[in-house]
Order: sequence, then C-alpha cells, then structure tokens
Amino acid sequence: MIRVRFAPSPTGSLHTGTARTALLNWLYARKNKGEFILRIEDTDKVRSSGKMTHDILEGLEWLGLDWDKGPIFQSQRFPIYIQRAEDLVEKGLAYHCYCSSEEISQRKKASPDGGISWIYDRHCLNLSEEEKRTFEDMGKIRAIRFFIPDVEIRYRDMIHGDITVKSRMLEDFVLVRRDGLPTYHLSVVVDDIEQGITHVIRGDDHISNTPKQILLYRAFQAGLPKFAHIALILGQDKKKLSKRHGVKSVLQFRDEGYLPLAFLNFMAQMSWSPGEGQFLFSLEELIQRFNLKKLSKGSPVYDEEKLNWLNGRVISEMSAEDLFPLVRRMLEEAGLWNSDLDGKKKTWTIKVINLLKQRSRSIKDFSVRMRPFLIDDFEFDSEGMDKHLRDERLKDLLPKISADFKEMDGFTAENIENVVRERAKKEGVKAALFIHSIRMLVLGMPVSPGIFEVLELIGRQRTVQRIDQFQKITAKKVCRSPSKSVEVY
Ligand code: GLU
Repeated sequence: MIRVRFAPSPTGSLHTGTARTALLNWLYARKNKGEFILRIEDTDKVRSSGKMTHDILEGLEWLGLDWDKGPIFQSQRFPIYIQRAEDLVEKGLAYHCYCSSEEISQRKKASPDGGISWIYDRHCLNLSEEEKRTFEDMGKIRAIRFFIPDVEIRYRDMIHGDITVKSRMLEDFVLVRRDGLPTYHLSVVVDDIEQGITHVIRGDDHISNTPKQILLYRAFQAGLPKFAHIALILGQDKKKLSKRHGVKSVLQFRDEGYLPLAFLNFMAQMSWSPGEGQFLFSLEELIQRFNLKKLSKGSPVYDEEKLNWLNGRVISEMSAEDLFPLVRRMLEEAGLWNSDLDGKKKTWTIKVINLLKQRSRSIKDFSVRMRPFLIDDFEFDSEGMDKHLRDERLKDLLPKISADFKEMDGFTAENIENVVRERAKKEGVKAALFIHSIRMLVLGMPVSPGIFEVLELIGRQRTVQRIDQFQKITAKKVCRSPSKSVEVY
C-alpha cells in the first residue's frame, strides 16, 4: 500500500509552501487509495510550539486534508530514536563522540584553510575502551555520530531524475546531540521506516539531506522509499517565498475570506499546469488529475491574483444558502449583523447574497458590498462621483425620477427598469445617465450587479431618500462618509 506522510516542524505556522507539500502528499495518497500520515516533527524543543501545532492542524482541517493516522508527535518517541542510534553504535556503524563544540571549533580554525572546507575529523572514531572510560570518568558528555562509509550514493528522484553523490563529501553527522536529543536525520529515517512510508514527497530544500538519510536506511537494513522533491515556490522577484512577499498563514487566508477549494486549486495549479486558460477543479478532479511524475521541476511563482480569480469562481458557483454562514461571520466582524437577517429578513438576505456573489472575490468583499444594503452610513467613491454626478442636467432629472419611483406601482426590478427607460425617453437622454448617477447615490460605488435588481432589494424608501440627497451633496460640494470627507468637485 502507498503510504505518505506530511511531517511539518511546528516552528512556524502552516503557510502556502508547507500546505502545498501537505496537499501533494494527500492527493497522492487519495489517488492511490493509500494512507496519509500526519507526523509532527517537534524534536527542536526550543523552537517548536503547541500553538503552531494547533495552527497546523486547524489549517489542514480547514483545507479538508484529512489524515488517516496521527498526529504522531516525535517528542513522544525520543527513547526509540536513541535506542536505534545505540544499536548502530553496537554494530560499529556509528560511534560516541566526546568532542565539545569549543574543541571542534578550535580544530576547525587551526585547519589550513581556516575551516572553510573542514568537516568533522573523526577525532573520536577510534577511541580505545580505556580512552572512552577516561572521558566518561571525567564526566564528558557524548554525542552519537554516524560513520559515513566511502561509497557513491545513487538514487532516482521522481521529479529530478538520477542523482549521484559521493559520500566523501559528507561529514559524520550527529544522530544524538550532546544534550541527549535526537537529530532530524535520525528521527525522520527511524519514523519513515517504522511507519512504512513508501514515498517521501517534500520540498527540494531537503534534497541535500537525502544522501545522508539513504545511508541511514542502509545502516538500518531497510528498503528505500521513493523520493520526490518538489520545487519551492518563489516570489514575483524570483526569490524564495518569504514574509517579505506578504506570505500569510493558511488561517489568515481563511480569515480574509478565501475558500478552501480556491486555495487547494491555487496550490495544485502552482505545482502542475492543467493547460492553457483558467480552471477551477473540484476536489475529485484534482485527485484524478494528480500525477507525481508530472510535477514541474521549475519553481512556481506565487501569484495572488490567480488565487483571487479562483476564489471569485468558487464564490460564484456556490449557492447563496451555502454562502450565508460565511457571509454572516464577516458581517458580524464588521459590526453589520443583526438577528433579523437570519429571521424575518432571511429571504431578503439570501437574495442580496445571490445578487452580490457574481462579482465578489472574497467573502470579505460581502461586508463592503452589502453595507449600503444594510445601513445608510457608507463611503462614496470619489472618482465615481466625479464621473457620474457632474452632469448639470441631473439637477433637473433626478427629482423627476425620484418622483416616478415614489408614485409607481410595485417597486420591482422589472417595473423600475420600465420607469427609468420611459423617463429617459421622455427627457431625450440616455438611460445610462440615470443608471450611473442612481447607482452612485444609492450604493456609493460606480459598479454593481444589475442596478434594477439592486434597487428592488434596497427598497423604495431608501432609494428615493438617497436620490434626494443629491441636492444636499451638490450644495455642500462635499460628500460625508463614515471615516472621511470626500471632496466631490
Ligand atoms: N520536518 C521537516 C520540515 O518541516 C520535513 C521533514 C521531511 O519531510 O523529511 O521541513
């Protein structure tokens, strides 16, 4: 059975890069009816934190990347790793090293090139039993180092192809540190063997670790898993993606109104190209289309615009009913929620969400775009006002349309449209003059879904009241908005 693992170190939160590693492992497991194991690599006691572990689990849950086993915490398995290292010492494949870091750095400094090409000099490799006893009696603390045999290490990476490394380049690396803690190399290999991992899919920053780990597999007489090192994501400036590029944690994306399916597509499509054009795949399609061998060798470039587009697509394909709880959360955060919206005005709320979902790129957009539907205190877009409320004829025309609206029967989208078009005809002006100016006055913004549907939902009273404010605005030449005054002319 195919068995993969996602093995984050909880020294940081789950961000786009690590979440993508999780996704690719998960897709591989699901496609092959295999197992996806979650292992928390918290061997670094100082830098690991429970909060980060929590954040990682919550992020995975939000994305829907469910695991079949785990989380397995490495911090609970220290005695096992130490025992495995001692077993290697027993077999002569590793040795105790009593060198302190001061001693090492002194020898390093004293080497001909000042330590540039220095690797551990095997000072403790052939200590006699007596020397060892003396060190022990002196209370010297020991580490365990792996003995690197002189071989050529060859393996085939599923993405990068054949890789050959001469072991002579490698240092006898530490398996158990002097503080008694296992190192990453030891714990990762012991676990991958014990947990029966068949495929190691991880970032290609681990490519240089692989030869050492392969030697460890051999020492433990275990078969090798297949390795697939995926290219790291780069920022727009082609440098390694970092906080500088505005990288956020997965939970931040959630809180900003992104949806799991958009985020999953974003990460997947950064890893392989589905073809020309823009696509949004269902989870099932992503699983079916996944092919580890087709993952691109080159680094993908982080493009949040693409994520925004995908998010907009997901939103437009969701039903208003499904969007409702998500929008509710955003409205609550923005202080715009009231219980009627889920009570006697629920049908109306659903209609508004349905209307606005077409152009919303994140759930957060709803709290901005719904504001004029809910309260009178909203901002006016100054450019839009300048463009659409400048026409002198409006002084005369707007009171007329306002009166039409007051008098007309049934304030429905269809009736509103007829009234506007008739009035435009009568006055010899384009209907667009009414449409743009009314939209600015009623919503404060120059773009919206179909204005007639919008007005029906805003309602007759509010519509008329806002159109009538035109006089006030032009008289004052200043448009009041909640947070600032916007100069209109
Ligand atoms: N814990 C390692 C990390 O977070 C991953 C180890 C591995 O995949 O081998 O980078």
